[in-house]
Amino acid sequence: MDRISCTGCSLLCDDILISSDGLFIDQIIGACLKGKERFDQVGSKNRILHPLMKNDGEIGKVSWDEAIKKTIDLLKKAHKPLLYGFSNSSCGAQVKGIQLARKVNGFIDSNSTICQGKVLNASKTSNLTMTTLSEVINKADVLILWGFNAAESIPRLLNKVLFSRGKFRMTGREIKTLIIIDPVHTASFGVMGVRDLTLFIEPGKDIELIKILKDYCCSEKEISEMKIGALDKDDIKRLLLNLKEAENSVIFIGQGITSGPSSEELIKELLELIEVIEKKQQKGRISIMMAGGHFNMAGFDQISLSILGTNQNLQFFENRLIDSNDTIVSKIQKEDFDCSIIIGTDPISHLPHELSKKLSSKPIIYIGNQHTATSRMADVILPTAITGIECGGLAFRLDHVPVELKKLINPPETLSSDEELLNKIIEKLEEN
Ligand code: SF4
Repeated sequence: MDRISCTGCSLLCDDILISSDGLFIDQIIGACLKGKERFDQVGSKNRILHPLMKNDGEIGKVSWDEAIKKTIDLLKKAHKPLLYGFSNSSCGAQVKGIQLARKVNGFIDSNSTICQGKVLNASKTSNLTMTTLSEVINKADVLILWGFNAAESIPRLLNKVLFSRGKFRMTGREIKTLIIIDPVHTASFGVMGVRDLTLFIEPGKDIELIKILKDYCCSEKEISEMKIGALDKDDIKRLLLNLKEAENSVIFIGQGITSGPSSEELIKELLELIEVIEKKQQKGRISIMMAGGHFNMAGFDQISLSILGTNQNLQFFENRLIDSNDTIVSKIQKEDFDCSIIIGTDPISHLPHELSKKLSSKPIIYIGNQHTATSRMADVILPTAITGIECGGLAFRLDHVPVELKKLINPPETLSSDEELLNKIIEKLEEN
């Protein structure tokens, strides 16, 4: 059996055992249901196995030459193309995506922009103390899931960080306190024990809670009678005590924090709270981990930061990065694009209806391996191999640790990796 990493989510579990004859997967041991679904994509009914193209409104099979020609024609005609996705591709493909954006005067963005990228942006003005999974497994005694449903989005995370016995401790779950701050009773509440703290917070009240914690963290005064939504004085006292007294605590930041209209301000306040606690703590350490879901969301931030020095607002013009405040959302909102390349993601399903309508009103080139709402709106569909199963590459785990992905089986005939396909498009553009 081969031991490989699973690309079902950003945890990139490296303990999955697979038996295969190089053509088919026979047995998978150790993956959660979400991981199993990822492996099942190889033979799924939804799999795209041939290039497809829209002709007179009808989508039909075409040869690779025709599909690439149409792609080049669309890109040559476009003056302001968008490139979006890249969280389910290898770092190699992300590098090629940036090269392509440079070549076509494009604007490139990843799913991170509406998720963990906001936290990285906030760190330009606040300190950001990050941690690794190993540190959490071995040392953490307080784990806070803030607006983050770990059990469903990163299913094996709690197995690893909550139920593990740390290398530097003789103790495990029994000394670990889990705190969940969420307005919704998610599946993650199922693992709560007696020492844990459940904080159902009303939607939109997180910022109020953070401000109060900041205030009381810095003062010696007793918390007076107060209520923040459904949270009372005792809840806030217990939360504050855990934050101040923990030896090693980690806050997992989920979509409950990174989405929503006031997310930027909320993240800024949260990072400031962490700074305040760090100053107050005599013996402990507090850090954050961003809980992006897609397996290589952290990769795009790493790659763009290392190549371009910035991870957002990536607008190219005449081979240079130019000043921009845009994100994929504002570009679509203003209809400031005339064509898009979507890779490995499904914005037509994920974005609000008003935005997906605008996105689908201009030609779409879709690169991916499964049919989605976006592929159904696309003008050209270019199928690729499944990264981490049919081709290898590098990815960054949710804690920004690089993980090498292995190729396990051959992809269906004629399919190449995202990286190879993007490279081919760049070469064809150069020839023309
Ligand atoms: S937790 Fe994520 S990486 Fe681990 S097996 Fe499940 S889907 Fe795969």
